[in-house]
Amino acid sequence: MTAAEEPSPRLAAALHYAAAGIPVLASHFPVAGRPRVAGEQGPLACSCGSATCPMPARHPIWAVTTDDATTDPDELVRWWVGIPDAGVATAAGPALGMVELCHRAPVDLIVGWLAMRGIRTGPLIAAGRAHHQFLVAPGGGWSFRMIEHGSVLRLGSGGLILLPPSRLIDGARTRWLRPLGTAGPPPSGDRLFRALLRLPGAVELAGSVPPEAVKLLSTGGEASRSAVNQD
Ligand SMILES: [Zn+2]
Repeated sequence: MTAAEEPSPRLAAALHYAAAGIPVLASHFPVAGRPRVAGEQGPLACSCGSATCPMPARHPIWAVTTDDATTDPDELVRWWVGIPDAGVATAAGPALGMVELCHRAPVDLIVGWLAMRGIRTGPLIAAGRAHHQFLVAPGGGWSFRMIEHGSVLRLGSGGLILLPPSRLIDGARTRWLRPLGTAGPPPSGDRLFRALLRLPGAVELAGSVPPEAVKLLSTGGEASRSAVNQD
């Protein structure tokens, strides 16, 4: 079987999410841009073709809007047969919200630090080396804050959550650190957002989070939380 004949892994993922009741839609995606030097590979660009795209590789394809997100398998097959490389997205709210943390520390340290403060984390997506996407309960509006060692973004209505294995404009492929369905219900976005505003830097984190808390990534901080809850 040639690569062209293989079913798109993104279509398979879209059908999987839809079967779990999550409405999805097709997103623009990264493509090779125009090379700056003839013969060399160009930087990645958004598949929409706009050199000034404000949300590269993270907005709905064609005339699709976030209102068109669906769990209808026939519609999903049409989208991904048409564009097999399209990203798989769901719209923030009403089913899910997202808090995206940009921070250089290992994510297991961050989850352990949150667990020490009694903050449970739910489904979690790795979106490149320094971007950690925490799926949260719906509700709340857009919010963005710079913190001492990074930034915290909360998606509001109309924002797109790119679900694995979507690719990002920097070429990174999103992947689940803790998938939907294995992480309990998504936690409160308000609590998580406020807690992350106080997140210290990587060095301080490494010195303050005990090994038993670091192991909590696989459980979201549910197990043994009392043993490491120092607040
Ligand atoms: Zn675009």
